[in-house]
Amino acid sequence: MLIVQKYGGTSVGNPDRIKNVAARVAKYRALGDQIVVVVSAMSGVTDNLIKLAKEIMPLPSEREMDVLLATGEQQTIALTAIALHALNVPAVSLTGPQAGIVTDVVHTKAKIHNITPKKVHELLKQGNVVIVAGFQGETPEGQITTLGRGGSDLTAIALAAALKADLCQIYTDVDGVYTADPRIVPTAKKLEEISYDEMLELASLGAKVMQSRSVEFAKKFGVVFEVRSSLNENPGTIVKEETKSMEGVVVRGVSLDKNQAKITLVGVPDKPGVAARIFKALGDATVNVDMIVQNISHGTGTPQTDISFTADKPDLLKAQKVIDGLKSELGLREMITAEKIGKLSIVGVGMKSHTGVAGKLFDTLAREGVNIDMISTSEIKISVVIDLAKGEAAMKAVHAAFIG
Ligand code: ADP
Ligand code: ASP
Ligand code: MG
Repeated sequence: MLIVQKYGGTSVGNPDRIKNVAARVAKYRALGDQIVVVVSAMSGVTDNLIKLAKEIMPLPSEREMDVLLATGEQQTIALTAIALHALNVPAVSLTGPQAGIVTDVVHTKAKIHNITPKKVHELLKQGNVVIVAGFQGETPEGQITTLGRGGSDLTAIALAAALKADLCQIYTDVDGVYTADPRIVPTAKKLEEISYDEMLELASLGAKVMQSRSVEFAKKFGVVFEVRSSLNENPGTIVKEETKSMEGVVVRGVSLDKNQAKITLVGVPDKPGVAARIFKALGDATVNVDMIVQNISHGTGTPQTDISFTADKPDLLKAQKVIDGLKSELGLREMITAEKIGKLSIVGVGMKSHTGVAGKLFDTLAREGVNIDMISTSEIKISVVIDLAKGEAAMKAVHAAFIG
């Protein structure tokens, strides 16, 4: 069997943990499997590199950030190879580019274009465990890129697809995907299985156990994968295509995204083309905009409106810069930013066929004294923006109401 195993930051967080990973890999290999290991940077390393750069300049060049951040994973691949050598297991480390991972040119959140894993195949054939640096690739011109935070998940899933692996295992520091972050909601339950769509929503709505883009990729290429712990042998959670029986559950999970910021534009001229101009400029600057709410017009003369939107917190400075640049051209009156917000969401494919879910959510929040600032819904999720300070208490209450 060909197995792709990915180990996240905590799982490779110190030399003992790396030795533990090596022992696990060696055990699988002893069963006769071919193993490709994808590793993240040791926990805290990526955050620290970002902090260092920001101490020098608040908005550093994204190209240079990629050069900097890619070093984190490069340390871990070599250390993991060394740990396998210590167990007499032949192992070779490869950077993302050496493994043939080619991306577009969007620095810090590049998308994988294609993978030509020739080197990986060669090394496997020679009997090696191949250790690939997660989170990184290169453009066709040879510029180093990274795949967005949590991007080692994407490396693993994309490699599993490219190599047509028999198994893809995502090893992390929890036993699998839970109905909510078990660190916030102690009563959260581990799920045996979850559909791609539910996992995708949970991941994009703040459940950082999987990077959302990696789930999107898995869905597109039909990569079934398992999320499980690197610290024990418990079975994990299988992420796969939706089955009919999954619709019986209304709410599969609850998530809280603390990583969003809200920007309100006050006094936006209410005429055709203005919203297009604003959001096109934000898109061009690769700001990820999520919820958008526009108020009804007010004022005399040219009618004016207010527009609020949420974006990833790390993109806030960039978004402010874009809006500042448009202020006089569009005649925007004011920009107000809020960072202390949380986006609370409930997710489940069963919502398609059940009614009254929104009412129950709003009622639960009202009982908790939580004010709802923005709302957005899709077929399988409802999200609300609330005060960050009340986020965790609200999450626990909502989990208790829908899941128990
Ligand atoms: P890794 O370093 O292995 O990639 P992450 O820290 O990125 O691990 O993701 C694992 C963490 O995700 C867990 O420690 C947990 O706190 C958090 N998490 C958030 N939501 C969930 C959820 N629904 N199920 C499981 N873990 C979750
Ligand atoms: N090291 C990167 C990060 O911290 C990628 C990853 O861990 O998956 O975001
Ligand atoms: Mg992760």
